[in-house]
Amino acid sequence: MQITILSRNRRLYSTRRLVEACEARDHEVFVIDPLRCYMNIVPHAPEIHYKGRKLEGGDAIIPRIGASVTFYGTAVLRQFEMVGVYPLNESVAISRSRDKLRSMQLLSRKGIGVPVTGFAHSPDDTDDLLDLVGRPPFVIKLTEGTQGKGVVLAETRKAAESVIDAFRGLDAHFLLQEFIKEARGADIRCFVIGDKVVAAMKRQAKDGEFRSNIHRGGVATPIRITPEERSTAVRAARIMGLNVSGVDLLRSNHGPVVMEVNSSPGLEGIEAATGKDVAGQIISFIEKNARLGKTRTRGG
Ligand code: ADP
Ligand code: GLU
Repeated sequence: MQITILSRNRRLYSTRRLVEACEARDHEVFVIDPLRCYMNIVPHAPEIHYKGRKLEGGDAIIPRIGASVTFYGTAVLRQFEMVGVYPLNESVAISRSRDKLRSMQLLSRKGIGVPVTGFAHSPDDTDDLLDLVGRPPFVIKLTEGTQGKGVVLAETRKAAESVIDAFRGLDAHFLLQEFIKEARGADIRCFVIGDKVVAAMKRQAKDGEFRSNIHRGGVATPIRITPEERSTAVRAARIMGLNVSGVDLLRSNHGPVVMEVNSSPGLEGIEAATGKDVAGQIISFIEKNARLGKTRTRGG
């Protein structure tokens, strides 16, 4: 097969591993930078150009689109979908997953456990909003943050009000959440491919920190997840419409709650923690599923 990887940098661990996995299976693989793709939009004849030549697109495309280039990256991916290339994850699903508020709404609509979450536009509603979500401590999150940036723990109601005031002053969108204290600074990353959790790890925050992100000093170890956690992760991925995703769960007193469904989950942490060949499993999934013109949405 001919497989294209959309990635800003071929030296990134995840990109390298996907290239290796393609080559190990005798596929032809190209890595292209989404920001160097340019396109024309004409009726019935969309084209994608890259560094001076026209791309045919091949059989399948693996989007590895960072949060900071979501807008342009998904436009490029959509163009590939329009010419019939099979996308590992569809552009519409990626855009959906990048919006934390929209994701929470979609998941809760289908009965997936999520932390009790509130949001409001007007400062006049802050008081009521805090009442709606419950009692302190609260977690306040910027809706467009990643790697734990813009995720704040407010121990008291007063502290929560100050943080909310500050975020509003910056015109930033945020969510207010109950703090899942019983998770004790740990979360569970489930790596989902198709309808299976192929690997799972626990990330434990360092002492004195509640955010378990590896970028914030969190430590990852393999973990055996419960059947309920497994089915929650698989259902969450399906609701978001993602074939490959990283579903982050917290163990709460009221069962597993989904914090986030990541559409470009990194391979380094999960392969190191579990010793599994996740990249190889992604390529096997493509071998089984890729067909020309097989996308649910063709971009919209
Ligand atoms: P990001 O997408 O920036 O990583 P997250 O929403 O995943 O932001 O939050 C970062 C970390 O903070 C999580 O991995 C988790 O350890 C912790 N965390 C987030 N929300 C909560 C919550 N409601 N209760 C307890 N811990 C939380
Ligand atoms: N193509 C539709 C859109 O972009 C799908 C919406 C959805 O299912 O979330 O709005």
